[in-house]
Amino acid sequence: MRELLRENIATLKPYSCARNDFTGEADVYLDANENWQDFVGKVDANRYPDPLASQVRKALDEVLGLPFEQTLIGNGSDELIDNLFRCFCRPGKDSVLLMPPTYGAYRVFADINDIKVHTVPLKSDFQLDLPALTSFLMQEKQTRTAESRLKLLFVCSPNNPSGNAFPLSEVKTICSLFDGIVVVDEAYFDFSDQASAISLLGEFSNLVVLRTLSKCWALASARVGVAIASNEIIAIIRSMKYPYNVGGPSQNLALKALGQAEAVKKGLALIKEERKRLAVMLRELSCVQQVYSSDANFFLVRVSDAAAIYHYLLGKGIIVRNRSKEMHCENCLRITVGSREENAALVAALKEYEHA
Ligand SMILES: *Cc1c(COP(=O)(O)O)cnc(C)c1O
Repeated sequence: MRELLRENIATLKPYSCARNDFTGEADVYLDANENWQDFVGKVDANRYPDPLASQVRKALDEVLGLPFEQTLIGNGSDELIDNLFRCFCRPGKDSVLLMPPTYGAYRVFADINDIKVHTVPLKSDFQLDLPALTSFLMQEKQTRTAESRLKLLFVCSPNNPSGNAFPLSEVKTICSLFDGIVVVDEAYFDFSDQASAISLLGEFSNLVVLRTLSKCWALASARVGVAIASNEIIAIIRSMKYPYNVGGPSQNLALKALGQAEAVKKGLALIKEERKRLAVMLRELSCVQQVYSSDANFFLVRVSDAAAIYHYLLGKGIIVRNRSKEMHCENCLRITVGSREENAALVAALKEYEHA
């Protein structure tokens, strides 16, 4: 791990905030220059939050089985992705490997951090191209220098925008092929029947799994993401993250949602049911050429004319995403599974488009 790190992170003396220095319960808090008055009530916004979000992590352990010692909460998984770049990749020197089409944030954070992006595209059916990946990684190993090295590899499973999850056996193969950090983004894990990469953590100290409460747990605005990794990697990110990266109200919302696990489970079943219904309805439409099977809460849909249909739906007040510019996604829209009414409105509008 040490040889992968940025030098300045390896030698960092972490900032220690008031809520790091004192973590117990007390009657009088005069250590953090807070206002004892709370003008907004209920949400506990006047006090600085727990920097380690321990209650949330305890709930994540109890409800989702994410091991308490090996989790770290981020301001959305987006913050965790940025932190990984800032821990491991030296700007202007190191590189990262992406497998497009995939989540756009990886490239944006790489660009912001001045990290070079290599790509090994998915196959046109959106499956992993393991032979191409293997030869790229072998080539990189032979040509790397002290000044430039591939540090991170992102696997998004289920993948955004294609919606498919990769077999765990293939994720495992990637972990053993690559001697840098493998980041498996499981933002849509809840919607999938594929096993989690968390089961590989004992075997691979170079693995980071990302989860989020933004999707299945319906807390996109609270900004709560989770990294699960070896104690060593968790300690590294902990040392450099913003001390109060996730606000108290957000931590409270996360606790509240995790306390409603039964309701969320029912909500998940409803989404899966709608996913099934929506796929059937979309496949009956003549403007739809292909609905890719989905392990997530959205579909990638190949249509006759993505730009025209996008604008037609827009005119009807229905917003989808046009992914046509992504690799292998010519004339593809990405459509989130909505409520029964929302899906009905979508399908009705598409039928109108066909008759227009
Ligand atoms: C939505 C999404 C996330 C979630 O990001 P947050 O910052 O946690 O809201 C992460 N990865 C992928 C692939 C996503 O689609």
